[in-house]
Amino acid sequence: MSDLDDLYQEVILDHNRRPRNYHALESGRKLEGYNPLCGDRITVFVETEGDVIRDVSFQGTGCAISQASASVMTTLLKGKTVAEAETLFGKFQDLVTGKSQGDPAELGELAALAGVQEFPTRVKCATLAWHTLRNLVAGKGDAPSPE
Ligand code: ZN
Repeated sequence: MSDLDDLYQEVILDHNRRPRNYHALESGRKLEGYNPLCGDRITVFVETEGDVIRDVSFQGTGCAISQASASVMTTLLKGKTVAEAETLFGKFQDLVTGKSQGDPAELGELAALAGVQEFPTRVKCATLAWHTLRNLVAGKGDAPSPE
């Protein structure tokens, strides 16, 4: 079990050090999520076509859990439908709240965040990017401003 913990730790540190899809998108919509409990601030960008997530990215600052979760999320959701993203979010939420142990085959690198179960105050860190994305695909958020 401790080997698995080490592996999971490594996944989180790696995503925190080198976050994937860490950039703005020029089209689509963006929305900022904020977790006052920890100070995590993440802006999620999404471009959808019909109900397919064509591209998703993020920027922001926060703890390793919030950054790693956002980074893994962006790697998993590109090309998925909104419904598939919702299903995955449900399974991820069950994992981090301890309702299930999760199936690594379904969760991919998200399984690395299983340790959050032991720290209920960190659940919001782990789900911040996901809640933000859910609000975005529900039609909230703004068009990105040209820079
Ligand atoms: Zn946090």
